[in-house]
Amino acid sequence: MAYKALYRTYRPTSFEKVVGQQHIVKTLQNAVLKHKIAHAYLFCGPRGTGKTTVAKLMAKAVNCPVTDKAPCNVCDSCLSIQAGTHPDIIEIDAASNNGVDEIRDLIEKVKYSPIEGKYKVYIIDEVHMLSQGAFNALLKTLEEPPSHVIFILATTEPHKVLPTIISRCQRFDFTKVPQMEIGIRVKEVLDTEKIKYEEGVIRLISQLAEGGLRDALSILEQCIAYAQNDLRVQHVHDIYGITTVSEKIDLLDAVFSKNVVAILDNVRFISEKSFDIKRLTSDMIDLLKECIIFQYTRDESLLQIATVDEVKHILAKRNANDLLKMIDIFIETMDKYRNATNIHSYFEVALLKMMAMGDQAIPVVNKTEKPMPLKPTLVTKQVKEEVVPVKQPIIENTESSEHLFDVDAEDEEIVEEPVVLESPEDQRLLQLDIEVENTETEDNEELLLSDFDIVRFMVAGDKVRRTNEATLWSRVDDYINEIEWAKVARMISDGYIVVTNEQFVVLSVPYEEIAREINAKANEIALRRLMVEIVKQPRKVFAITKDQEDRSITMFKELRNVGRLPEPMIIHTEPLPKISKLEEEVTVDQRLVSLFGEGNVDFIHEE
Ligand SMILES: [Zn+2]
Repeated sequence: MAYKALYRTYRPTSFEKVVGQQHIVKTLQNAVLKHKIAHAYLFCGPRGTGKTTVAKLMAKAVNCPVTDKAPCNVCDSCLSIQAGTHPDIIEIDAASNNGVDEIRDLIEKVKYSPIEGKYKVYIIDEVHMLSQGAFNALLKTLEEPPSHVIFILATTEPHKVLPTIISRCQRFDFTKVPQMEIGIRVKEVLDTEKIKYEEGVIRLISQLAEGGLRDALSILEQCIAYAQNDLRVQHVHDIYGITTVSEKIDLLDAVFSKNVVAILDNVRFISEKSFDIKRLTSDMIDLLKECIIFQYTRDESLLQIATVDEVKHILAKRNANDLLKMIDIFIETMDKYRNATNIHSYFEVALLKMMAMGDQAIPVVNKTEKPMPLKPTLVTKQVKEEVVPVKQPIIENTESSEHLFDVDAEDEEIVEEPVVLESPEDQRLLQLDIEVENTETEDNEELLLSDFDIVRFMVAGDKVRRTNEATLWSRVDDYINEIEWAKVARMISDGYIVVTNEQFVVLSVPYEEIAREINAKANEIALRRLMVEIVKQPRKVFAITKDQEDRSITMFKELRNVGRLPEPMIIHTEPLPKISKLEEEVTVDQRLVSLFGEGNVDFIHEE
């Protein structure tokens, strides 16, 4: 006996056996029963959803002499249509048929009456692919169809079908078949074929089929050919290059433990095995979704993908809220696949984003662990909005702290599009920063920068400038003994430049008190004046402690490694007030304080 594909063998022979598309089947059945048959039907919908099957059933039904339960599948007409030998049923596959003239001829012959049946039925698959000549013939016929002709046009791409054709047809939109219905059908076939199988196989195949019953049966067929009479989940994985649940959990574990190397290795492995990344992404979403559902229901019967232990394993590492955020990232990423040429890198970035999720909270955590007031006026909200995303270095960077701030050095690989994405979480954090800043009182002028802001300074830093200015720094000592500069020069003389650009200088100083003093509003103008002397620009000076410096360097590295560096710090400063005006304001007392330092001068004012 000649080999027959499963989907042909199991093609439904009655309307009742059609899987899914109940709304369409019902309407057509009624039309046949009531003899209200249209002359042209357009079946639209994804591949493998039953368009051709229903078209054939329709061809049988309209020609079957059994009127109440057509098609009967036993009469001559039904049998010859089933065998594909009925002279009045003309099937044309516009996608693969090259005989353009032949098709045109076939269509032009519609005027001749049917040879055996009541109706001549033209089934034209992928009708949008018809040649121009055939199309014109079809259009002409559709304008005045003979009463003995029925056209059933099928297409996966209805938008490519001319509106003049569509308007002459009764249109039916076939939908993807629900996974559960496919599963039932797959099980039926396995049982009928007497093949042993693991339960998981059915679920897996119905997932793989993506709503196409024909695809499900083709997949099943391939699996049976591979596994013979004992079909296991692993067989399906082997054939279709899909990852198992435990492989997905390995990937999640790498994300949870912030193991960048493991993440990259995993993605490389997936890419080498040419696994289907889109499917993997949607599988990951399903897996995470299942965990969330379990978290709230504790109902094991709802688990379809993972076991209770696997779900508990994931939930032990992240709460439902985090998992939801991860789903968001995956969904966002799926969206990008559509226009992407290298979807692996998008997948990779998604995983790294998830890995960095917790890190975004670092500045907040620091605030609570060790209260450090944020500076109130460093950057106003308005200024933040002016910040333009800059080119960001991509992930693969050296660990050398020597070159830590060389973000604009030429040897770094730069991507045009910033890797930093403005997620809602980012927005929230930014908002949070602003709120904290705004609620800070104007009186509190003794300030320390947050680690996060220091990182932003680092992002904005200019390495060449830092190297040059580090050598200039010894000049500060020359100003210590000058009455006008003494106070501020002493403040900064023990510091060294951590990061600098044409707007600011960030110094590392030995003591927190000194850092606060340098950052105080009261000293801003004097320090900027001193900067004119030292670096020839009225730059704003900021100070941090050694501890802050170390912490920020670590944070900078971590963020850089995951491609999530924040936007660069931009400092806006007012022009310096004129010297004369300043000098008028400086009293003798203030000069003395400048010279000897506050606390070292006692004023005894004589009456
Ligand atoms: Zn019949």
